[in-house]
Amino acid sequence: MKDKNLRFNSKTIHGGQQPDKGFGAVMPPIYQTSTYAQATPGGHKGYAYSRSANPTRTALENSLASIENGTYGLAFGSGMAAIDAVLKLLEPGDEVISTNDLYGGSYRLFKQIYENFGITFRFVGMQNVNAIEEYLSAKTKLIWVETPTNPMMNIIDIEAVAELANKHNILLAVDNTFATPYLQQPLDLGADIVMHSATKYLGGHSDVVLGGLVVKDKELADKLYFIQNASGAICGPMDSFLVLRGIKTLHVRMQRHCENGRVIAEYLADHPKIDKVYWPGFKDHPNHAIAKRQMKDFGGMISFVPKGSSYEAAIKMVEKLKIFTLAESLGGVESLAGHPASMTHGSIPKEDREKVGVVDALIRLSVGIEDAADLIADLEQAIGS
Ligand SMILES: *Cc1c(COP(=O)(O)O)cnc(C)c1O
Repeated sequence: MKDKNLRFNSKTIHGGQQPDKGFGAVMPPIYQTSTYAQATPGGHKGYAYSRSANPTRTALENSLASIENGTYGLAFGSGMAAIDAVLKLLEPGDEVISTNDLYGGSYRLFKQIYENFGITFRFVGMQNVNAIEEYLSAKTKLIWVETPTNPMMNIIDIEAVAELANKHNILLAVDNTFATPYLQQPLDLGADIVMHSATKYLGGHSDVVLGGLVVKDKELADKLYFIQNASGAICGPMDSFLVLRGIKTLHVRMQRHCENGRVIAEYLADHPKIDKVYWPGFKDHPNHAIAKRQMKDFGGMISFVPKGSSYEAAIKMVEKLKIFTLAESLGGVESLAGHPASMTHGSIPKEDREKVGVVDALIRLSVGIEDAADLIADLEQAIGS
């Protein structure tokens, strides 16, 4: 099947997929094997050892490449392992410019591991793309963008950052975990690398941890493949299968995540006990115009601050929720609530997180695909009218 002739809602199901050669299985089998029989030394059927390649993982990697409009996909044991592989393209002395309001685990990997290897990270508020220029140097090798940002839902203009990165011959990587390719396709906007925590929306059912990268350029793909095989942070065949299955309903789930997200964002914005709501779909969101241009819809991730709330009161509020589960993570069919200051962003110093708006009382919602009326009733009993 010629992938490029398919629209997104068909690529999620068929993209990069081949009928099973053995028995015609509609889903690729879970090739739970470490090694493969060879007729003569080196005489195998494209698979020699499952760290290097596994057919179930290949099926997923092809699907990832297809849905992101890329050419090459690489799957890893977690989103962090995928980010780690990108950073291994760098050398001591290199500099990275990164979004300042960033997934906590990415910040920790940058600061606590890669700084020890002589790589310097500069954290910049990229909502104003010009702000990046003053941090550029001859040593800048990578720009790391997350949009919408976590948990503040800032929107960064990928096309504008790509133009700047291109001009200076710097790699641009976009963490597309929050948006998913249903909402935006960074490679089409000029990014070099798309990264996913497939643990979230791509898997979509909170039952697997897995990461992915997608690129267009063969040379870059070869380097990343070398790192994937040499460092070995691959995912197993069962997990590859689960994410592949998740991707098949991505477009349907995302449509509902966005519909429910809008209903909940508007409910919160109208609520007298809520002070601030962060969601890029609001006309008065500072980056709404970019979000509208760059994204197909606005997603189901929302952060808010209750009026006059404290660290303790915010924790009490999330503890009261019954349908929203208090948990790390996001992007599953079930609604989750989190308290970034004590959970996802607990590893970022209070001073640093408050600078970007992650205050003690901030609550983050991953709106699931339940009935929106039940979700509102749950929020209502927790917030109190
Ligand atoms: C969860 C997450 C990651 C890390 O992915 P894991 O699969 O948990 O390793 C990276 N970036 C973002 C935006 C995430 O939400």
